[in-house]
Amino acid sequence: MSADLTHVDQWVFDLDNTLYPAECNLFDQIDVRMTRFVSDFLSLSETDARRIQKQYYAEHGTTLNGLMSVHDMDPGRFLEYVHDLDLTPIPVLENLHAAVSELPGRKYVFTNGTKAHADRVVGKLGLTGLFDGYFGIEDAGYEPKPRRSAFDKLHEKFDIAPKKAVMFEDLSRNLKTAHDLGYTTVLVHSAKDWSHEPEGARPGQHQESDAHIHFLTDCLTTFLSTARKSGPETR
Ligand SMILES: [Mg+2]
Repeated sequence: MSADLTHVDQWVFDLDNTLYPAECNLFDQIDVRMTRFVSDFLSLSETDARRIQKQYYAEHGTTLNGLMSVHDMDPGRFLEYVHDLDLTPIPVLENLHAAVSELPGRKYVFTNGTKAHADRVVGKLGLTGLFDGYFGIEDAGYEPKPRRSAFDKLHEKFDIAPKKAVMFEDLSRNLKTAHDLGYTTVLVHSAKDWSHEPEGARPGQHQESDAHIHFLTDCLTTFLSTARKSGPETR
């Protein structure tokens, strides 16, 4: 059955593992670069750096937040370093271009990465020019999704009304906040575990019973193409 999104005229997309498939393994590159940065920044062995990296991720929501809170680190250099990625694995998705360009209303990218990263990835996907704006971690004052403050700043910046908006995400926990604010929520899921966290602690995991997820798909393009959307006459 196709999803009814006829009430939607604002489309909010997470970036990594949502606009491109998790199978691209970009997180593996980010993960390795984070370890290297932490090792260099704190003068630790790679093993100790990795432990600290994962500890901060668990305790502070992101490794970045841990480094900022505990070590008063300037986020700029870290973000530039960890996002300096080889984007070769990202395919140009021509059908996704058609599906996104046909969506009625405004479209945004809402990422816990930087705007520069969003711009590069969107470019590699062949989607340049389709979005009305990017909202990066710098816009959120480095307070990542799923924190409410990140959503509040997004709404203020782009004048978003959650009741007329849908959010696409690969992380169930980020959709909890979105749902509570009134969004329609779509989990773009993959069988691939990109996080390498133990079973039960993987951020991409979800339960069929997660009440804050309205729709579930393993293919964003198919979902967008088949969803019921408002036509020009009903907008
Ligand atoms: Mg993501």
